[in-house]
Amino acid sequence: MDLTYSEADEQFRAEFRAWLDANLPAEWRQRGFWSRQDRDEGFAMRREWEASKARAGFAGIQWPKEYGGRGGTPAQRAIYDEEMVRYRAPLTVNGLGLTFLAPTLMVIGSDEQKRDIIKPLLHNEVIWCQGFSEPNAGSDLAALQCRAEPDGDEYVINGQKIWTSQAMHSDKMFGLFRTSTEDKKHRGITMLIVDLRSPGIDIRPLKQMTGATDFGEVFFTDVRVPKSNVIGVEGGGWDVAMLLLSFERGASAMPQYTGFRRELDDIVGLARDLGRDQNPLLRQRIASSVVELECLKYHSLHVLTQVEQGKELGAASSMTKLQWSETHQDIGELFADVAGLGHQVSGDGVDDLQRSYLWSRSETIWGGSSQVQRNIVAERLLGLPR
Ligand SMILES: Cc1cc2nc3c(=O)[nH]c(=O)nc-3n(C[C@H](O)[C@H](O)[C@H](O)COP(=O)(O)OP(=O)(O)OC[C@H]3O[C@@H](n4cnc5c(N)ncnc54)[C@H](O)[C@@H]3O)c2cc1C
Repeated sequence: MDLTYSEADEQFRAEFRAWLDANLPAEWRQRGFWSRQDRDEGFAMRREWEASKARAGFAGIQWPKEYGGRGGTPAQRAIYDEEMVRYRAPLTVNGLGLTFLAPTLMVIGSDEQKRDIIKPLLHNEVIWCQGFSEPNAGSDLAALQCRAEPDGDEYVINGQKIWTSQAMHSDKMFGLFRTSTEDKKHRGITMLIVDLRSPGIDIRPLKQMTGATDFGEVFFTDVRVPKSNVIGVEGGGWDVAMLLLSFERGASAMPQYTGFRRELDDIVGLARDLGRDQNPLLRQRIASSVVELECLKYHSLHVLTQVEQGKELGAASSMTKLQWSETHQDIGELFADVAGLGHQVSGDGVDDLQRSYLWSRSETIWGGSSQVQRNIVAERLLGLPR
C-alpha cells in the first residue's frame, strides 16, 4: 500500500483548492443550506455550478482528454473527492451518468457513443438515470419483464421501471429491456438508451422517508427507440449490466470515508453541546466508529494502490460496498443515540445528520443489497459452495 501522494498530485490539489476558493459561494458551504433551497431551483444551481467546474477542467479527472476528461491519475481522482467533501461542495447532479454509464462506455461503447455521450454528460448538458429495477425484479434482476420489441430499425417499449433515481430531472435513461423471451433469461436482455422526452413516457415521483422525491416510477407505452441506441449488442445487456454494476459498487471508498469522518466530527460536537460527551457508553461507541472508519480508509487506500498498479478488482468491489454502507449505518445509529429523542424533530443543528441517518438506511439496498454482496464475497472471493 502506497500512502504518499506525488509532487504532481499535490500540485493538482493546490490548483483545485484555488478554484474552489474562488468559485464556491461561502453560503453554499453552510450546514443546512441545501435543505433550505427549493428542490428544482437547488438542482438548477448545482447543475450550472458543476458545468462551470467542468469548463475549468475539474471534471472526469481520470478520463482521457479526448472525451473531455482531465487525463489525471486515480490518486488525483481521490484528491478531487477528498477536497470536494472537505469544502462541503455540492454533490454531482449527474451521478448515475458519471459513475456508471461513462466508465462502462469507455470499456465497451462504440466510438460514436463515447464521442456523443461522455463530454455532454460531464458538462451536464444531458442528465442520466438508470432503469434496471422493476416491481418484480430487484436482486433477481434477470427476472425483468419490460419489453422492447424489435420493429424495423426501432424497438417499441412497453412496461415499467421503479426506484429510478433522478427520474424527474433526467433527460435520458440507460436501461435494461427484454428483447427476446425465447433465449435464456439472462440472454434475452438488451441495454438501451431512451430519450425521456419521447412520446409514451410517464414519470411519477415516489416519496422517501426523508420527505424528498429522489426517485420515481417510469411507465412506457409504445415508446419507440432507434436500434442505434443499443449499448453493447442486442441480447448482451446482462454482461454490460455486470460491468456497470462493478462501477456502481465502487473500487475505492475514499470519498465516503471523508464525508463520514466529517459527520462523526459533527456528532462529537453535538455530544459536547448536549453535555453527553462524558457518557462512558457513548464514548465507547464513538471510539468504535472511529476504528471502523480508519479500517475503511486503509481498505480504500489498499484498493486505490491496486487500481494504480492496473490490477483487476472484480468481486472485491462488493467488499468495499459492504464496508462503507454498513459503517455509515453504524454512524447513523450513533447519531440517533447521541441526539436522543431530539433526532426525530428537525432543527438547524441536526438537519443534515438526520437526513444522512435516514438516507443511510437505503445504502445497504441500492447497488445490490448487503445480503447479495455477502453471497458474492462468499462464492467468488472465498470460493464457498453456493
Ligand atoms: C435509494 C434507492 C435508489 C435506487 N435507485 C435505483 C435506480 O436509480 N435504478 C434502479 O434500477 N434501481 C434503483 N434502486 C433499486 C435497487 O437496485 C433495488 O431496491 C435493489 O436491487 C433490491 O431490490 P428489491 O428492492 O426488489 O428487493 P428484493 O430483491 O425483493 O430483496 C428483498 C430482500 O431480500 C433479500 N434477498 C434477495 N435475494 C437474496 C438472495 N439471493 N440471498 C439473500 N438475500 C436475498 C435482499 O437482500 C432484501 O433484504 C434504488 C433503491 C433505493 C433504495
